[in-house]
Amino acid sequence: MFEQKKQIELTYFRNMKNKFAIAVHGGAGTIVQALMTPEKETAYLSGLAQAIQAGYKVLAQNGSALDAVEAAVIALENFPLFNAGKGSVFTNKGTHEMDASIMDGKTLEAGAVSGIRNVQNPIQLARAIKDKSGHVFLSGLDAEEFAKNIQLPFQPDSYFYEEGRYKQWIETKDSDSYQLDHSLHGEGKKFGTVGAVAIDCMGNLAAATSTGGMTNKRYGRVGDSPIIGAGTYANNKTCAVSCTGHGEYFIRAVVAYDISCLMEYKGLTLQQACDYVVKDKLVKFGGEGGLIAIDNMGNIELPFNSEGMYRGYQIQGETVVIKIYED
Ligand code: ASP
Repeated sequence: MFEQKKQIELTYFRNMKNKFAIAVHGGAGTIVQALMTPEKETAYLSGLAQAIQAGYKVLAQNGSALDAVEAAVIALENFPLFNAGKGSVFTNKGTHEMDASIMDGKTLEAGAVSGIRNVQNPIQLARAIKDKSGHVFLSGLDAEEFAKNIQLPFQPDSYFYEEGRYKQWIETKDSDSYQLDHSLHGEGKKFGTVGAVAIDCMGNLAAATSTGGMTNKRYGRVGDSPIIGAGTYANNKTCAVSCTGHGEYFIRAVVAYDISCLMEYKGLTLQQACDYVVKDKLVKFGGEGGLIAIDNMGNIELPFNSEGMYRGYQIQGETVVIKIYED
C-alpha cells in the first residue's frame, strides 16, 4: 500500500517536471578500445550525437515520443557505420535483409517488418504498418509492396554496400556459421542494431529498433529486433525498451517485455529490472548484448553484458551524454 502510494507520488512529481528525454544505441559487443582509432571513435560519437539531436529536436517542439524515436532511428539508419538501413550487413546470399519495429507506450500500438530489401528507412515502414495497415507485422515482398504503395523511398543494392561489411561476409560466406557484426575488419565482435527510447513532455513513452541482423545470417532468418516484446517494447505503465544482441537468445528470453513485467508485476525499479535481466538472467542463458530503457518517470538505464555498447542520451535542459565502453 505504502509502495503504491509512493509510486503515485513519484509519477506525479515526474509529471509536474514534464521533462522529456531520449536515449539511443548503435549496438553492443566486443568493441576493443585498443583497436579503435581516434577517427573511428569520432565518427561513431558523431553518429550517436546526430541521432540524439534528431530525437531531441522533435521533443523540444512538443512532439511525441513516437515521432522522436522514429526521427532518431532514421538518423542512425542513414549513418553507414551502424548495422541498420544503409550500413546493413550481408546475408548468406550476399543480400541485405532488414528488420525493424516501433511501439507507442500510450496506446500499445505497434508496427513491425522483417526481411525487407532496398527500403531506405525500415523504421518508416514499421511506423506506416502501425498507422495504416490495420496489422502489426508484415514481412518480405508483401511488406515491400506496402512500402511502394505508400511511396516510401527505395534504394538500389549499391546504396547498402559497405566495404568493411563486405569483407566480413567474404570471411564467413563459405561456412555454415553466421557472425555478429564486426563493423570494421579486425575491430572485434560487435552487434550493430540501432534503437531509441523516449519520454515526451506529456509523459508518453515509445521505443524503436532497426537492424540488418547478423553477417551471413540465413536468408529469411528473423532476429529479435522486429519482435514486439523481444527486441522492442513500450508501455506508459512501466517503460520503453530497445535491445541489441544475439537475437536468438533475446527472442527466447523475451527480454524487452520481461523488463516491463518485472516492473509491473513485481514492483521492481527500472534499474533493478535491467540489472537482473541483462547482467544475471541473460548472462546465465548465454545471451550477449544490451539494451536501452526509459521509465515513466524519465529514469534511463543503458545496461550491457558485453565489452561495450554505442549509447547516449539527453534529458531536457541537460548536456548530451555519449559512451562506448564500460564507465
Ligand atoms: N539483435 C540483432 C539480431 O539478432 C543483432 C544486433 O543486435 O546486432 O538480429
